[in-house]
Order: sequence, then C-alpha cells, then structure tokens
Amino acid sequence: MTIYNSGMTYKKGDIKMEHDVIILGSGPAGCTAAIYAARSRLKPLLIEGPEPGGQLTITTTIENFPGFPDGVTGPKLMQDMKDQAIKYGTKVLSALVTKVDFSKKPFTIYTDSEKFNSKTVIIATGASAKWIGLEAEKKLMGKGVSGCATCDGFFFRDQEVVVVGGGDTAIEDAIFLTKFASKVTIVHRRDELRASKIMQDKVKTNNKIHFEWNKVVVDIMDVKQGKVTGVKFKDVLTNQTHDVKCDGVFVAIGRKPNTDLFKDQINLNEQGYIITNKKNTCTNIAGVFAAGDVQDPEYRQAILAAGTGCMAAIDAERYIG
Ligand code: NAP
Repeated sequence: MTIYNSGMTYKKGDIKMEHDVIILGSGPAGCTAAIYAARSRLKPLLIEGPEPGGQLTITTTIENFPGFPDGVTGPKLMQDMKDQAIKYGTKVLSALVTKVDFSKKPFTIYTDSEKFNSKTVIIATGASAKWIGLEAEKKLMGKGVSGCATCDGFFFRDQEVVVVGGGDTAIEDAIFLTKFASKVTIVHRRDELRASKIMQDKVKTNNKIHFEWNKVVVDIMDVKQGKVTGVKFKDVLTNQTHDVKCDGVFVAIGRKPNTDLFKDQINLNEQGYIITNKKNTCTNIAGVFAAGDVQDPEYRQAILAAGTGCMAAIDAERYIG
C-alpha cells in the first residue's frame, strides 16, 4: 500500500493499526477535526477518500470564509487546512474506505487494502451536489456554472442567471440571487414546484424572478469561449428546444449525503443525512461522531463544517477521557 501524506510517501506498516481517532473525509469538517484532534495529542488518522479536500476544491474564489478579506481559492484553503493538520501530527491516508464496522469496539475501518481499529470515528464524508450530467456543465464549472448561490451569487451583479430545480434550494437560491442579478429564471421539469408553500409565496412576489415550466436544460453555451453565454431548454411536453441568453447557471437539483457506507449501522434521516444530537456531534453510536455536510441538510456552509469538525474533535477527546 502506498500512503501519501501531502507529498510524502509512506510504506505499509508506517501507519499503525490502532488509533484513538480516525477521521473520514478531508473537507473543512475533516481537516478542522484533524487539527483539533492532533493538537490534543490524539495523533489522528485522516482518510481522504475519493474527493481530497471535498467540495471546496471544485469552487473558485471563496469570499465568505472569515479571515480572507481578499478571498481565497477553494483548493488553496483546503491545502492550507490539510498542511495545518499534518503540521500537528495528523497522518493523511489517500484511500477508499470500503466498509466500516461500528457493531463492536474498537471500531474497524476497512480500506481497499488495509484495516484500522479506532476508539472513536469522526465521519466527515460530506455531501455531493447532484448535477444535470451535461458535458458542458462539467467544462464550465466555476466559469459560470455553480452549485452554490451563497458562494458565487456575488459574481453576477447586474447579469442574467438561470436556476435549475423546483425544490426549496432552487427557490432560496433564486431569491438570494435577485440581490445581485438583473433577472433570475427558474427552470423546472414540471409545472408545479416541489418547494414548500411559504417559499413559493415568497417567489411569486419577486418581479426579478421568471419561470420556465416543463423545461429541462439540455445544453449550456459556450464551452469554446470558456464562459456561460446561454442555455438550451427543451420542453418536455413538446420536445421543442429554444436558446436563452444568460451569464450564469445555478444547479439546485438536490444533494446526496455521502452515507452509503454507514447505512444499517447508524441512524440516518429520511434524506440519508446522519442524525446527530443537536447540542453536539454525537450519533446514536457512542464514540462515532459526525461533522459537516454529512449531517447538515440545512445550512451547508464551509465555515459551519469547520465549526462542527472542531466540535467533533472535542467530543471525541472527551469520550476517550
Ligand atoms: P429537493 O427537495 O430534492 O428538490 C430537488 C428539485 O430538483 C426538485 O424540484 C426536482 O424535480 C428537481 N430535480 C431533481 N433532479 C433533477 C434533474 N435531473 N433535472 C432537473 N430537475 C431535477 O432538493 P433541495 O431543494 O436541495 O432540498 C433538499 C432538502 O432541504 C428539502 O427537504 C428541503 O425542504 C430542504 N431545504 C430547506 C430550506 C429551507 O427551509 N429554507 C432550504 C433549502 C433546502 P421534481 O420536483 O420534479 O422531483
């Protein structure tokens, strides 16, 4: 097994099998938990998973993370957090966790080639945005295509944007975007919103918001120019297409918490998010804690992920005693 630790390579056996704290996930929640656990001399093992650095690594500039008046790029912020965790003694393992066993203590974490035991586990595996699945969407990500209105809305002052989706997130994003954009078009695949009644009422009275009903986005222009210049809508009832000019596309068709590994082992809510005690990061299994987006269907902000990561490390330290 090859173990990468921010540029350093370890051989099999360099990482011990027994741990006090294993952290799953390397976004702001996982890295902050690692910084705190390492500074408490718990020598955490952080397993990075398939998307090292988490969702922030696919954003561009982050302007709302406190402490960065000029903004910071997502990849830079995450590399700095990881370096800080390593500086205080975190071992970072690049591996895919294939199985966990929380039925007996110590808990066991299996990767594709190893297994580790730990007194505590902090789950910080995050959530993944759902995407439409278009090639252009991938290519224009961060160049006009975004999955986070709170993060990127500011860049669309006096411009026209399209929001895809009909749930609470799409409506909330659309309302937020009217603070900046001159026109916000919500495109929904049906003629009825899924969003709550209260959100629907708010949107009806906002004259910057327009609707395209029974439509889906089948293309985003213009990959050649490297920026969003418009979208192609398809009417799902007539199959007819038409192009609409816009400067940004916000995809808000839901998110999926990364909890498949923990099904049947830990209490999840009906959307698949880990249920934690509201006052701390405890799950229904003593010694297993959850932080960040994996347990947060509501706010989903990096600063809160970092905050709950800090809480989880403190909760784990107190549990170990
Ligand atoms: P959601 O409720 O699952 O809604 C997703 C929307 O995207 C639906 O309208 C769905 O259409 C549409 N959609 C899904 N896949 C699509 C595709 N491939 N192409 C086009 N459209 C697609 O997700 P959400 O809006 O992110 O909300 C998630 C949860 O968080 C909900 O429980 C919500 O109430 C909650 N939330 C609450 C607040 C608040 O209270 N302030 C704010 C945000 C989120 P269909 O309707 O046809 O399925």
